[in-house]
Amino acid sequence: MSYSKPTFKDVYGNFINGKFIAPLGGQYFENTSPIDSSLIAKYPRSQKEDIDMALDAANAAKDAWGNTSVTERAAMLNKVADIIEQNLEEFALVETCDNGKPIRETLNADIPLSVDHWRYFAACIRAEEGSATELDAHTLSMNIKEPLGVVGQIIPWNFPMLMLSWKLPPALATGNCVVLKPAEQTPSSATLLMEKIAAVFPPGVINVVHGFGPEAGKPLASSSKVDKVAFTGETTTGQLIMQYASKNLNPVTMELGGKSPNLFFESVMDQDDAYLDKAIEGAVMFAFNQGEVCTSPSRILVQESIYDAFMERVVARTKAIVQDNPYDVQTMIGAQSSVDQYNKIQSYIAIGKEEGAKVLCGGAANTQADLAKGFYILPTILEGHNKMRVFQEEIFGPVVCVTKFKDEAEALEIANDTLYGLGAGVWTRDAHQLYQIPRAIKAGRVWVNCYHAYPAHAPFGGYKKSGFGRENHLMMMGHYRQTKNMLISY
Ligand code: NAD
Repeated sequence: MSYSKPTFKDVYGNFINGKFIAPLGGQYFENTSPIDSSLIAKYPRSQKEDIDMALDAANAAKDAWGNTSVTERAAMLNKVADIIEQNLEEFALVETCDNGKPIRETLNADIPLSVDHWRYFAACIRAEEGSATELDAHTLSMNIKEPLGVVGQIIPWNFPMLMLSWKLPPALATGNCVVLKPAEQTPSSATLLMEKIAAVFPPGVINVVHGFGPEAGKPLASSSKVDKVAFTGETTTGQLIMQYASKNLNPVTMELGGKSPNLFFESVMDQDDAYLDKAIEGAVMFAFNQGEVCTSPSRILVQESIYDAFMERVVARTKAIVQDNPYDVQTMIGAQSSVDQYNKIQSYIAIGKEEGAKVLCGGAANTQADLAKGFYILPTILEGHNKMRVFQEEIFGPVVCVTKFKDEAEALEIANDTLYGLGAGVWTRDAHQLYQIPRAIKAGRVWVNCYHAYPAHAPFGGYKKSGFGRENHLMMMGHYRQTKNMLISY
């Protein structure tokens, strides 16, 4: 079964104060689909004045919104979840068209997971309890949590709906108003969502402004009209955003890049077929959904005693991956999200070859005739060592670098020899390793005998240059609030 490109209007606006409006300077950019380079639509090329307008709307709405009851806010969040769920296929198609990822992924993972995050924070805010302590017979110490006010949120292109659904619900649930800037490569699903939910929230509570980083992101992150900046993107962009926000002493959360190790120990090969198949999938499928995942297991580390046998299976499985038209439900790996990303990945493959890495499979663009207008890279495995640039730098493509280790100590040394600390995988049936290896890996999320699950109730975030602060889990509500202590004498 195959879908086709969804229909779009010619031109879209920013969503400010409950309405779609044209950018004040009248400038637009063309958004194209990486599947076939066809035009999707024009979106506002917003500037500081558009950001200011959105921030003014959010500031005007914040007091009333902060005073709504948790029951009302939770009901609105649940309403959004229902709307996305009722239009799941439409959202999935728009996301596939904008980003290039296969429809099987957007239909089965990105959009359903997004729905769950809205529901999760609707539930969290209602389940919460406060604290009051009697200090003596006449003194009560009471902590209440207040919203920060207006939050600026800036998100990347790799999971447009999911990143939006990680960011908006906790900020809104805790009583903040938001100005969100989607990535310029993928403005469509955020726009579709605003169309569908325009009437759910009071005007000004959610505002979505499109545009490029330096023109629209920078004025948002550096504005004195925001009270917090939440960012997901590259580490170097995060460093700039921290500088911008520091002018106003604004708190930030940073969800940044990664170079995640995926470790396969000797015991993996002694197991039943079902476990071994799962481990092979863990090495292959989670790396090759275009590889445009911050926690993509882009470094595979295999114990040398099983290296040849294990890698033979990994390479065979990789070669069987179906790369084709992303609208086709059989397709497992689609297009890279943009021509820039496509060029960057190819330049890294060239760097790897120059460094002496051996290409075990892939290693080039996909030249299939019917994909010629899009940006497709063959799933690629490079064999080398951890000091190579391709092992150290985030490629953000379907390129996995593989090396071997002798024992636990060497496995940990290689795993932790990276500037990043976002995700990691450990595959073993050894009871000691099950706990001790993940414990010793310096990363915010370690999957053991699984990979790439992102339940809303498990905290996710980085160590080292992968950022700080957490997404998901109720602890995230703490990132969007300040605590007021009332010391009451009576
Ligand atoms: P990016 O940093 O280039 O852009 C992210 C966002 O920042 C975009 O909206 C962009 O317009 C904006 N931006 C760019 N320059 C800016 C500036 N000077 N001022 C303000 N805003 C600016 O990242 P990307 O290429 O869109 O996304 C890929 C990166 O995101 C990868 O490094 C990936 O690992 C990371 N990522 C991290 C997580 C996580 O949870 N840790 C999740 C998804 C993606």
